[in-house]
Parts: sequence; structure tokens; C-alpha cells
Amino acid sequence: MKVLFVSAHPDDIEINCAGTAKRMVDRGDEVVLCNLCNGDMGHVVIPSEKLKEMRLKESRASAAFIGAKYMTLNTGDLRLYHQHEATRDAVIDIIRKVNPELIITHSPNDYMPDHIAVSKLVFDASFCASLPHYASKESAVVPICPIYYMDNLGAFGFSPTEYVDISGVMDVKLAMLRCHQTQLTWLKDHDHIDFEETVTVFSRMRGLQAGVKYAEGFVQMAGWGRMTTKRLLP
Ligand SMILES: [Zn+2]
Repeated sequence: MKVLFVSAHPDDIEINCAGTAKRMVDRGDEVVLCNLCNGDMGHVVIPSEKLKEMRLKESRASAAFIGAKYMTLNTGDLRLYHQHEATRDAVIDIIRKVNPELIITHSPNDYMPDHIAVSKLVFDASFCASLPHYASKESAVVPICPIYYMDNLGAFGFSPTEYVDISGVMDVKLAMLRCHQTQLTWLKDHDHIDFEETVTVFSRMRGLQAGVKYAEGFVQMAGWGRMTTKRLLP
């Protein structure tokens, strides 16, 4: 199966659903990790221009760690607008290029403006990508596919309807997170947050809910043309 993960920032996938991405690779899926923003505001000392280059390398290293492909739209943080036509067309091109059978993205009630914009952009773009008369750079028309929403940081207002057991790949999830050293060191130095511990606690909490050691939670977007009788998650 072809699976497209679309997040706003370079570490969102690692925080919320990297264990699931690894399990998909292990079962033979073609997995693409895509960030729409470049993370250029994710530090207070490193200048944006330098930071975005560093974060691109971090994301590429994380995707390569599990053998996933990596794509980015390279938009500046907080410069991503849901109602911006050229951005929507660029997301349509990504979807047409990948031709996913499943998309995993942010929930529309996530906590951060870029995350909410991504959620809306992906929903709109995946619909438009299926219409032959909707012209974009990529001419290939692709079918509408199911969308699953990933968890949010802190699990606020998010009640998973499906869980993936990541107990056997928790070390891989943390190794992917460790690729994002700009974020781990920044959060430790400036906010005294141990981000590895934070992500471990949230994964453990979802694990407790699902009766396993570590898990990741998802909500399927319910709507016409988006449903299936198959279990899509590992
Ligand atoms: Zn983010």
C-alpha cells in the first residue's frame, strides 16, 4: 500500500506517528513522509535561514532511517494559509505524484495554526486531486482515499478510534525523534523539557488505553468516499 504522511513541521510525524510509519515500512508499504513547513521558527538562537537547512537534513535523516521517502513544500512556519490557492495546488501536486491509498495528517482541531492549515489543505487537495477538470502541474488524476488523523501533542480533545501497537518499534520512533537535535536541545536548554521522555509518556498513555506497552492513536475521517471495510493501519 502507498501511504502519505503529511505534517506541518519537521518533527510532527516523529512525535505522533513514526512508530506506525515504521510498522508500515516493515509490512512492505511504500511510505512517504512530507512536511509542508520548513521549521524555520523552531529556535530562538539559530537564524531562520540556517535553521531551515538544518531541519531539512534532520527530516531527511529521520525518513532515511526507516527507508521512507521524504518530501517538503518548504514553506516558512506560520506562513502556511489554508485559503491560499497556489499552496493548495502544490499539495494537490504532491498527492497526484504519490497517488496514496491512505493519507495520515493532522486533525482539524489540533493546537497550532500550521497544523490546522495542513489538515484543511490536505482534505481539500485530496478531493481536488481526484477531479480530471482540476488542472495542476501534475496531470495524473488520483482517486479519493481514506484519511486518518494523527494524535496531537498532549492528546487534547483527541479520542482515538484506532490504535497501532508500537511496542516493538518504540526504539525506532525515539531514534527518529533524536534525528531532530535542533528541537531536542532547544527544548532542553530553554524550556527544560526532555522531549524523548515526553514522547515516551504519551506513547505509554496510548498504550495503556489499548492494552499494550506503547501505542499511537488515530481517528478516521468519516465521509463519503473515504470509508473502507479493510483495516488499513498495521
Ligand atoms: Zn508542528
